[in-house]
Amino acid sequence: MESIRLLVIGAHPADIFDQSAGTMAHHTARGDWVGCVVLTHGARIHDEVISEQMFHRTEVPEADVLSQMMTERSDVKADEVVAACALVGVKQEDIYFFGEDDAVLTVNESNVRRLACLVRRLKPDLVITHFPKEGGAIGNPHATAGQIVMHALPLAAGVDPGDRLPPHRVANVFFFGQGAAATRRGIWSAEGGFYNDVFIDITDVAHIKVACLDAMKSQGYDGAYARKRIEASDGSFGDHAGVAYAEGFIRCDSTVCTHLPLSDLDLKIARMSDHEIIRQRSYKIDERQIPQVKVFARNKKQS
Ligand SMILES: [Zn+2]
Repeated sequence: MESIRLLVIGAHPADIFDQSAGTMAHHTARGDWVGCVVLTHGARIHDEVISEQMFHRTEVPEADVLSQMMTERSDVKADEVVAACALVGVKQEDIYFFGEDDAVLTVNESNVRRLACLVRRLKPDLVITHFPKEGGAIGNPHATAGQIVMHALPLAAGVDPGDRLPPHRVANVFFFGQGAAATRRGIWSAEGGFYNDVFIDITDVAHIKVACLDAMKSQGYDGAYARKRIEASDGSFGDHAGVAYAEGFIRCDSTVCTHLPLSDLDLKIARMSDHEIIRQRSYKIDERQIPQVKVFARNKKQS
């Protein structure tokens, strides 16, 4: 198969990694082009200064001071994204920071047109993004991000005055399974009706994914959380899929094939005994495998 172009679009800086770092690593290793869009600056999301330190204060700084602090923290987060992307083989020039305010993310003409324009330029074959109905799609920035994408893709498939690029249609969209088809714990997720229909076995790169979360230090995802998260989420998806670690996805459109789809892994697992599958599911990341991650101030001209 020819190499493909994969665009991963997340609401906040960490989303693309905790949801799909392993999948991204597999695609770049195969020679596919992988690009990333981070829609919001994410300064409010679990940030150790803006979110954490402000929480127990009696008063937060005045508007201009606070705004300046948020700009600085957004920069730190973007540097972390670049560092984590390098771990999974995504180049800085292929990361697009939209810088939307994470206060109230909305679907609007401006962000939809901007994303559609980018899609016409980058011409991805596949897109990964958030499930547009996550959390009932009420006050959920992940869901809103998924909706922005789902508005932008049909627009990208047509022309738009001011953009000389021809229409581009993506072949399919995969939604992050975690957050939508994970453990249900609220009234909106109880609605259900969706499930992970594709799992990507990321066992071989799970330790790289831990390092990606180690890079997300600004929001406390490094260290213990990174390890717990991978064990709890990817370990759970893997356990359901018959492997050690997996990322789950919800496919948007049905697939068209010449023959019935059967993956190499489906066949391999089907031919394994019960105990062989249990052993496969039991594998755990060795701490010594996890690479040390270094976050540098990025070259801002490129992003
Ligand atoms: Zn998020």
